[in-house]
Amino acid sequence: MTASPAFDFHCHSLCSDGALSPQALIELAAARGLQQLAITDHDTAAAYTPQLSDQATDAQITLVSGCELSCLWQRRTIHVVGLNIDLAHPVFVRAMSEQAQARDRRAEKITEVLRRMGFSLELAQIQRIAGGGVVGRPHFAEHLVRTNQMPSMTAVFKRVLGAGKPGDIKAEWPALETVVGWIIAAGGMAVIAHPLKYKMTLTKLRSLLTTFVEVGGQGMEVITGHQESNQTRTLADLAQRFELAAS
Ligand code: MN
Repeated sequence: MTASPAFDFHCHSLCSDGALSPQALIELAAARGLQQLAITDHDTAAAYTPQLSDQATDAQITLVSGCELSCLWQRRTIHVVGLNIDLAHPVFVRAMSEQAQARDRRAEKITEVLRRMGFSLELAQIQRIAGGGVVGRPHFAEHLVRTNQMPSMTAVFKRVLGAGKPGDIKAEWPALETVVGWIIAAGGMAVIAHPLKYKMTLTKLRSLLTTFVEVGGQGMEVITGHQESNQTRTLADLAQRFELAAS
């Protein structure tokens, strides 16, 4: 019996909001028998260093370049994973700096909102928690828990930072077609990340996929973390209908 090919084209490292270093991710991927791995940090490709490529080669893992980019479609934040991107392409390099600026402005706004809610925090503290990587909501949550201002990460998201809560600040992300355009210009393949996480109706999701295909999107994630088998079937059906490659 031959094992089916195993790959993971969506994971995050300490370069954004992941829990492991890029090195530790390669080790874990090797331990789990993966053949291919993409480290798709939020709006940064900082994980990809020559040393990491060497480590992947030694571990017999094909390291696929990748990045998860935030964008807007009908005023919703959508995540698009770019795979097999030329990370040194000028369009991609500029895209990374534009995304970083949008994220910085958002981090400043979240800091302001949390202060107005009565929490004590400095943006610099949050940036330290992010370890110089991309600042995200989990880093704010960690600060509030560490400083005993909130009991748990879950509580922070439930009351402060989660969807619809005051700290759920939308960044001024570029449009979906812009981000897909960047990915394609840099030689990559654009993949819609975790389609069920946007909590859209199926009709809305079909509309998103229609636009996505129109602007050049080529893939969608069909399996993302833990999900029910009926969800997998729904996503597999959509991928087939829209002729999108399944990640
Ligand atoms: Mn995402």
